[in-house]
Amino acid sequence: MHYQSHISDIFQRNWLTNNGPCVEMLTEKLKGYLGVEHLLLVANGTLALHVAYQTMSITKTITTPFTFAATSGALRLQNIQMRFSDVCDKTFNLDPKKVKEQDLEWADSLVPVHVFGNPCDVNAIQSLAEKYNLKVIYDAAHCFGSEYQGQSLLNFGDCATLSLHATKMFHSVEGGAIIFKHQADFEKAKKIINFGQNQSQLPVLVGTNAKMSEMHAAMGLSVFESVDLIMSHRRALQQEYIKQLTEYVDLQEHAIGAEFNGAYMPTLLKNQDELLYLKQKLEDNGIQTRRYFYPCLSDLDTYAKSVAMPNARSISSRILCLPMYYDLSFEDVGIICNIVKSILTNFRQKV
Ligand SMILES: *Cc1c(COP(=O)(O)O)cnc(C)c1O
Repeated sequence: MHYQSHISDIFQRNWLTNNGPCVEMLTEKLKGYLGVEHLLLVANGTLALHVAYQTMSITKTITTPFTFAATSGALRLQNIQMRFSDVCDKTFNLDPKKVKEQDLEWADSLVPVHVFGNPCDVNAIQSLAEKYNLKVIYDAAHCFGSEYQGQSLLNFGDCATLSLHATKMFHSVEGGAIIFKHQADFEKAKKIINFGQNQSQLPVLVGTNAKMSEMHAAMGLSVFESVDLIMSHRRALQQEYIKQLTEYVDLQEHAIGAEFNGAYMPTLLKNQDELLYLKQKLEDNGIQTRRYFYPCLSDLDTYAKSVAMPNARSISSRILCLPMYYDLSFEDVGIICNIVKSILTNFRQKV
């Protein structure tokens, strides 16, 4: 159904927010589509993290410095103590082998990120969680439609959070979701997003307002109709980019047994000078790119600048995401790749 028709239905009902029919319908559709059980829609991906952290009652956590500011920002705003641990230089994800014993003894939780939808080493992380009695909360903002070992990547960990922001694979303009392993956590989070109120509107928990509105859910419902088309086109574009650029740039090493959603096209340049040169030259050609994620969070005073994380710092300084969106054609990708190749060849001949 067209967005406008959803909107006129909403005004007909005069039910604009507070778990209305559009939110309910989108929840059911996403549960079926993603193959997940306890899914809670929220106002955005950052609030999804806040609510997930609060639901899990975590106080001390180990997280990755190679992520978007929201992962750490939500931890700090919730007064959760955090320590960074470095990522794997191939997968860009938190490396379970690098986490220090003393940090594992200290922490009550892990907050890894499935970067660009690439699955973390979920088995190794699960083993650490069992050995040290840790909750695992995955920031799975990039993982709509990503699969691992034959199921949704969102099914791993005690919970996983999604972003449904307009820049993500699937969106509701602003929006997010939390997928819980346990029903009890889902029920608790459902109260937290509605001021901590129970069904009799008694605030039995300290809560917030993280509800998704009907208008946002309506956008989700209209985009949902094209989600297969969007995802398969993006996957194909990603394959095309990889085929054309594999000799020219380093690429993220994808986990075996992972099905990608084609959300991003990250490339790793040789060094920051090369990246800056390429970024500027592409801009001169009208091609926009994004340094994502940059800078490395463990290098920032904002997040209590900590011990250098060499892999995260190196990746942050060299990563460039190339254009990736539904309206992009194979021809466009061919043109972009040719320009990238010629810029890089030029630059490399000079140095
Ligand atoms: C986009 C993003 C978020 C934040 O989601 P919003 O919906 O924009 O609030 C959190 N973590 C990561 C890794 C993201 O990429």
